[in-house]
Amino acid sequence: MDGFSTLAEYVKARADMRVKCKCGREVNLPSATLGAMFGAWLTIEQATARLKCKRCFKRGVATVSPSHGR
Ligand SMILES: [Zn+2]
Repeated sequence: MDGFSTLAEYVKARADMRVKCKCGREVNLPSATLGAMFGAWLTIEQATARLKCKRCFKRGVATVSPSHGR
């Protein structure tokens, strides 16, 4: 099951969030961090709009997908 619509679903499924920026930078956000970072009630859209890339410093250009680590 992929295509979560809220952060709460990531947290519940204990799925990491793989964030891929347009510049090519990829990071993995552990599910435990997501709720603390954004608040679990946010939709994925709202969360990605707030994500700021540490390399290109652009906001809202990343795409995210669930990843179960390992
Ligand atoms: Zn970037």
